[in-house]
Amino acid sequence: MHSGTSPRASVSSVKDPRYTGENRCIPCTVLNVGIAAVFSTAVIATLIPSGPTLAIGAGVGTFAVALALIYFRGYLVPGTPTITRLYFPERLLGRFDTPSHHAGWEDADPRNLLLELGVVIDDPIADDLTLDPGFVSEWERATERHWADELALRTSLANLAGIDPDRLEFEDRTRSFAAWIDGARLATWPSRAAFVTDVAGSTILPDWDQAWDRRPLALRADILSVLRLFLDRCPACDGRVSLSQEVVESCCRNRDIVAATCRDCDARLFEMDVDPTLLATETDPFDDR
Ligand SMILES: [Zn+2]
Repeated sequence: MHSGTSPRASVSSVKDPRYTGENRCIPCTVLNVGIAAVFSTAVIATLIPSGPTLAIGAGVGTFAVALALIYFRGYLVPGTPTITRLYFPERLLGRFDTPSHHAGWEDADPRNLLLELGVVIDDPIADDLTLDPGFVSEWERATERHWADELALRTSLANLAGIDPDRLEFEDRTRSFAAWIDGARLATWPSRAAFVTDVAGSTILPDWDQAWDRRPLALRADILSVLRLFLDRCPACDGRVSLSQEVVESCCRNRDIVAATCRDCDARLFEMDVDPTLLATETDPFDDR
């Protein structure tokens, strides 16, 4: 270790951020630890004729080095994502998904909640669900107020998450916008536009929902992301928003998603994993009410 460098900083500088930390792929890691165990056992079996102490020492050493490689690089065998894709059944891979990958509403139902609160209403003319016009104008004003005001964004997000605004950091990338708290990722949005509309929405929802502050943060985040489905104008450029089905490649498999994207500035406003077998019959998550 170099003097003047904290152990944490020097460890993170040799870690490959593409495959470790938040980006670590659990199926690939499990597969690699399995490979490391098999390989170390083979080393022991090969060296047993030269003496058990040497064999076990070499096997344990091999396993330790392999684990260190997996820890720092994210994988042991190059091309693991392809191997995992081939050998892990899709259903099993799905189990490793973090809940945020499934914007489902099995536990608490943001869909019904928004209808109960009157934020989402049944429009008899369009025969479809739509946002209450009063909510829309409040939401637009709040979005405008937050758009170029970094301090307002910081304060409102801190309020939503119940944290100190000074601990927040933002990271704006091409296809994602992330908020970090003390170096740990708090949340990710598909774009800065999506982030700003969520934060703006969180400042007006307490007027519509008396229980807002008592609801779990995960549910409040779900409600905000469901609301983004109703955007038909882009908050960044006022362009038209269109829905599409896409297949995106994540580490070791393909995901079927439904996405809402601005046709003018390409800002991604909403993204949800969907079961491809459902896509044939249903693309509107509000359809099955
Ligand atoms: Zn746009």
